[in-house]
Amino acid sequence: MIVDVVLAPNPGLFTGPGTNTWVITARGESVIIDPGPVIESHLEAIKTAVSGTVVRAVLVTHTHPDHAPAANGLATQLGVPAVGSAPGPEFNPDRSIADGGGVGFGDIEAVCVATPGHTPDSVSYRVRNTLFTGDHIMGGSTVVVEDMSDYLGSLEKLHGTGLETLFPGHGPVIDSPDATIAEYISHRLEREAQILDALERGADSVGSIVTEVYRDVNEALHPMAAMSVAAHLEKLSVDGRVEVEPEPTWEAEVRLR
Ligand SMILES: [Zn+2]
Repeated sequence: MIVDVVLAPNPGLFTGPGTNTWVITARGESVIIDPGPVIESHLEAIKTAVSGTVVRAVLVTHTHPDHAPAANGLATQLGVPAVGSAPGPEFNPDRSIADGGGVGFGDIEAVCVATPGHTPDSVSYRVRNTLFTGDHIMGGSTVVVEDMSDYLGSLEKLHGTGLETLFPGHGPVIDSPDATIAEYISHRLEREAQILDALERGADSVGSIVTEVYRDVNEALHPMAAMSVAAHLEKLSVDGRVEVEPEPTWEAEVRLR
């Protein structure tokens, strides 16, 4: 099995150095994961990377605009199915895949592992002892989480499963998966404790929690942090520990129970 990366030219606040488009090859057959946004030069680079192989499918980890929009067009050009867990604004799977489903190429298989949390539709793909994580786990930057209970569950599900390498949707390859996953879990639990602390000290809105808890984080990222705080608060309200207004906007009131 050979893993190649083709870095999309879309660097930014949410994408780090850009989207990693992965090409995995085994015995002359390949699959492409997350072809990214529609950028002509990037599509040419992907086609160069798969030249000389028989492409079997274009896989998508989730339908965010930096991962999926190029998938249907590229799959059509290559005459293969676009595979993903759910449709999105700029993606419509030719073949839907769910937890445990597989796409064969060469003598191996990319197996779908449902990893909701970043988005409800997020999946990772396991190939032998490696995992292509999309935005569930990112190299060197923090993941924006929509559903914290799901997210923590999706991290725990991967821990201790014999993974040797993670290939994230952004940033560098991770070669100590269990240590990284454990760090991710403890980071989130630490944030949860900090949020409860902030509430105990008098913070009473999403905004005041962000200002206090994310003091060490660039202010430009505070709107993203607010999404994560909202996801934490939703979990804490399900756990019966806080009360929060139904729409967790910046001004939304939050109270300890
Ligand atoms: Zn994403």
